[in-house]
Amino acid sequence: MRLVILDRDGVINEDSDAYIKSPEEWIPISGSLEAIARLNRADYRVVVATNQSGVARGLFTLDTLNRIHERMHRALAELGGHIDAIFFCPHAPDDHCACRKPKPGLLHEIEQRLGVSLHGVPAIGDSLRDLQAAQAVGALPLLVLTGKGLLTQRKLVDTAADVPVFENLAAAVDALLQGEDAL
Ligand SMILES: [Mg+2]
Ligand SMILES: [Zn+2]
Repeated sequence: MRLVILDRDGVINEDSDAYIKSPEEWIPISGSLEAIARLNRADYRVVVATNQSGVARGLFTLDTLNRIHERMHRALAELGGHIDAIFFCPHAPDDHCACRKPKPGLLHEIEQRLGVSLHGVPAIGDSLRDLQAAQAVGALPLLVLTGKGLLTQRKLVDTAADVPVFENLAAAVDALLQGEDAL
């Protein structure tokens, strides 16, 4: 099975420091949904792993989060794409849960539920914590410069980590499908 793990905010949709609290605030990044559909056509399963601490912070309910994801699924379906599953952490940093990235709990959950290893599986994110969670399970972290990506790229310089960087999800997916040497 071919698989790609995606962060949500700042990768699929525009990020907001005020959180995405309603379906109306969920705005896809240009080209991201088309990129997911391209992955699907190339027989990739696409799974999302996302921190959603806005739930624990009381900014939105689980029901609202589900409605946001329904909007995402519908928008994607119109383009012939689909996301197989969404794994989210609803906790706040103070909860010290095992699933809030950079912890690898969400990724372990994916491994268990799908019955696969994420070793070498591309995991695309815009934050350092996405890349760290990916590294913790031996996945292949890829950075996109949308969302918090530019800030993250500067942090990466400090850590000297060798992570492939792409303009956005569309560019990362193109590289993936072309089997670029960089990957
Ligand atoms: Mg993000
Ligand atoms: Zn959690």
